[in-house]
Amino acid sequence: IAGLLNGKKGLVTGVANNLSISWAIAQIAKEHGADLAFTYQGEILEKRVTPLAEEVGCDFIVPCDVTDEKSLDTIFEVVKKKWGKLDFLVHSIAFADRNELKGRYIDTTLPNFLNSMNISCYSLTALAKRAEPLMKDGGKIVTLTYYGAQKVVPNYNVMGLAKAALEASVKYLASDMGVNNIRINAISAGPIKTLASSGINDFKSMLSMHENTAPLRKNTTQRDVAGAALYLLSDLSSRVTGEIHYVDCGFNTTIGPSQPK
Ligand code: NAD
Repeated sequence: IAGLLNGKKGLVTGVANNLSISWAIAQIAKEHGADLAFTYQGEILEKRVTPLAEEVGCDFIVPCDVTDEKSLDTIFEVVKKKWGKLDFLVHSIAFADRNELKGRYIDTTLPNFLNSMNISCYSLTALAKRAEPLMKDGGKIVTLTYYGAQKVVPNYNVMGLAKAALEASVKYLASDMGVNNIRINAISAGPIKTLASSGINDFKSMLSMHENTAPLRKNTTQRDVAGAALYLLSDLSSRVTGEIHYVDCGFNTTIGPSQPK
């Protein structure tokens, strides 16, 4: 099927480089006919995001630090001015101090707890609230989560709590926005090597554990996640909202391999 997002206007957050999950989502959205705008966090990432945006024929990039509410207001003012509407939003943002993505969760400090929750969880609500008035013809929102929300994953620590709250936010937001024909879903992706995941201590073990125990005996790729995002951002998923959709080679469904590899 081609052109699933023909003429749709989409705002993509969280591109840091060409390994970012949101970059793969942007690429597939472009392949399916979407017009895109990108946000970037700070000047250093602007230098990385600008050429990537150009690759998909886009010169619409805006700064975004989700801890700064004014910067969030500005993004949607610019979108309103340029497009007058928004059809979809990709939320692909998370942060925790890497010094606390190791060791015991119990050692998490209050400032890191609050900052991680703000950036990794509340930012979805902050963006959705501002996107809603622009989604006049209905809309779709996709966010990214991880299984560490459901079960303890070593070193994931405070991010597990942030993702648990993010997953609950998806359900509450779906309930709030459903009457306006806005759907919101999360993709729970298997571990993928990116800038953000490189902050998790011993991330290599997460990758090998997934590869060795997931039913498909593989690791997940950015493109795998992008395919699911395309489905959730398009009308193929027209009656799906408030869901946590796993794209993890089946890892979450099993406690171990049924047969040796
Ligand atoms: P990434 O580093 O490419 O993306 C993370 C993004 O968050 C970056 O673009 C960064 O600029 C942005 N960000 C952080 N703090 C911000 C702030 N204050 N304001 C605005 N933006 C901010 O890494 P990624 O792995 O593509 O992460 C994207 C999402 O996918 C995250 O929510 C992550 O938790 C989730 N996820 C990743 C994996 C994985 O293994 N890589 C697995 C499941 C879920």
